[in-house]
Amino acid sequence: MDIKQKPTYKTKRFWAGILLAQFLLFFLFSKVEFIVNLFVKFFEFQKSVHQKIFSLLSFSVGDILYIILGIGLLYFILKIIKKKSRNIFLLRFLILANILYFSYQLFWGMLYFQKPIIQNLPRGNITLKETQDLTLKYLTLCKQTRKLVNEDKNGVFIVTDLNKIKTEILHNQGNLPNFLGHKKAVNINAFKPSLYEGVMSYSGILGYYNPFTAEAQYNAELPSTFLPFTLAHESMHQLGFAREQEANFTGYLIGRNATNLDLKYSTEYFVLKSLLNSLVEKKPEFVKQVIQNYSSEMKRDRMAEKDFVKRHEGFLDVMFGYTNDLFLKSNQQEGSVTYSYFVDLLIRFERSVSKK
Ligand SMILES: [Zn+2]
Repeated sequence: MDIKQKPTYKTKRFWAGILLAQFLLFFLFSKVEFIVNLFVKFFEFQKSVHQKIFSLLSFSVGDILYIILGIGLLYFILKIIKKKSRNIFLLRFLILANILYFSYQLFWGMLYFQKPIIQNLPRGNITLKETQDLTLKYLTLCKQTRKLVNEDKNGVFIVTDLNKIKTEILHNQGNLPNFLGHKKAVNINAFKPSLYEGVMSYSGILGYYNPFTAEAQYNAELPSTFLPFTLAHESMHQLGFAREQEANFTGYLIGRNATNLDLKYSTEYFVLKSLLNSLVEKKPEFVKQVIQNYSSEMKRDRMAEKDFVKRHEGFLDVMFGYTNDLFLKSNQQEGSVTYSYFVDLLIRFERSVSKK
């Protein structure tokens, strides 16, 4: 009797094996500096290609891809539940998982294992006093810059021209300090308003980078105080900084001396809030005092932010806050609640420039 054997590549076992091998291989890769650097080099090439292609369309292609993927996944699950189609759809599912995992690691995942920026900054202990002094410096800066920006009819800060901000961010990418390594500024506008802005407002997510299309999505519904700095942050992912707190730090370097005052204010205000957050447990009285010393303009901006958050509270907030936190932790980072790595970078950098 003649029994027909399936070729190996058509078996589930084969593709499950490949997936497992990928997990192991990328894990090993992440431990070898030389190999991580190869992925970083590849990213330098890939980012300009992806950004060039996807910037041709003004809407977020990545968001559409996610929708298709979501529908596809649902379809697969339904087919896998049914006994008749289970085998073939499990096989297809495994192949798809292999492709997605591989492209994610190739396009993005390995960038999390780059040498941390903190290693290129001066060491030494950071005292509470130093943090408080810097907080007061940023309070003053915020007050000054806030006087120079525009307001809506309620006296709340409003961004005048988002495109000008985008242009300046892209321009400033070329002027980042050398200690950050050499990431090429490609000067392509691939900022996209997210197609999920409604959901995003409830989730507390300000923006996100799509590793498959290299697009930077932002929530266009956000209050103006958040908006310019969110753009700077996402653009730093596009440049090749994967870690959240390093995107904040490099985003701050983009905005700190911006000639665009909207960008400058949004950055300084982000820094101020981060410093206050880092102090709130150890120096609650100091934090309270600083907030009381906000200018009346800043107080209105703060109320507008609080109001926005309040209007979008709900179960999604809890859910997304939680998953976001998990995602960050799985990438060897701190959760989204603490800002200490950013503040650490910030203070060390401020120290090095103030000495000069
Ligand atoms: Zn980010």
